[in-house]
Amino acid sequence: MNIENLIRDNIKALKPYSSARDEYNSVTKAMVFLDANENPFNNGVNRYPDPHQIKVKDLLCKIKGVSSKNILLGNGSDEVLDLIFRALCEPKEDNVVTLPPTYGMYEVLANTNAVDVIKVELTRDFQPNYEAVIEAANSKSKILFLCSPNNPTANSFDSNKVEKLLMNFKGIVVIDEAYIDFSNEASWISRLNEFPNLIVTQTLSKAYGLAGIRLGICYSSELIIDTLKKIKPPYNINELTQQRAIKRMSYISGVKNEIKIVKEERERLVSELETIDLIKKIYPSDANFLLVKVDDANKRYNQLIQKGIVVRNRTNQPLCENCLRFTVGTSIENNKLIKELKTL
Ligand SMILES: *Cc1c(COP(=O)(O)O)cnc(C)c1O
Repeated sequence: MNIENLIRDNIKALKPYSSARDEYNSVTKAMVFLDANENPFNNGVNRYPDPHQIKVKDLLCKIKGVSSKNILLGNGSDEVLDLIFRALCEPKEDNVVTLPPTYGMYEVLANTNAVDVIKVELTRDFQPNYEAVIEAANSKSKILFLCSPNNPTANSFDSNKVEKLLMNFKGIVVIDEAYIDFSNEASWISRLNEFPNLIVTQTLSKAYGLAGIRLGICYSSELIIDTLKKIKPPYNINELTQQRAIKRMSYISGVKNEIKIVKEERERLVSELETIDLIKKIYPSDANFLLVKVDDANKRYNQLIQKGIVVRNRTNQPLCENCLRFTVGTSIENNKLIKELKTL
């Protein structure tokens, strides 16, 4: 597969904006910076942020074992995903393939970019339907979105199926690993070299506890990363975000400890929920949430709201009839959920 052929012609021809910090950026000696029309009075954020986020990427390299050349950062995964659409999909011409029930942003971004969506439902056990995906895709199918662990079903996709899709889908395969830190499965970032059509996205919004700073991560080949870099806004990761990301990633044992607690709470929540009558099924979870089937999702959702607990009602998603999604909270929050469900 020739990856170049998947990139839009206007993007290939594009000459990126060259920022002041691109044209001169030396740290060898203290310089007087009069090139970016910034306010000269120091207040901590009067200068533009590093457009290449070198310190953030250096830390990510250490934690994830991927070279900086293979990393692009975005204002949340949502920006990363939007850049991928804009680099690859010709509006009103190309399409993407999604596997519902899954994360809603793929379709929203497709609609924003005037790109068609081909939907191929997951199988009953929430796995990709390999044959149906290959059959549904056509020569205009540029991207296949695989979310693993998948939101809202909480399971990871079978790695043999994912590998077959990577080898046989004739476009880019995006594996959204927003929940990978809660999973027992290995990340696909260790296999970037094997698959030139692979893009993996991750985020600091979930396990890293930084949803408020908006930092999404994209890992791929240098060719794809360099293409996305050409179209990203130069200063897309603001200074405060970079500082907080650096602070958090410099103390990774704190993150690991929280992940451990969330996973323990998840297991405890499962065993408590199993004893509750209105819960009909708890799907296996590799993430920080549980998908559960109840007797009547709309009724139970509203009752929980009355009790002051907000969960996500997924009953209108395909294959998710009467399903609610519970995020794993602190032990106090989970106890409240269990207690209120028991009174219902
Ligand atoms: C929460 C979530 C994200 C995170 O998006 P950000 O923009 O990085 O906060 C991405 N993908 C999935 C499937 C999610 O559930």
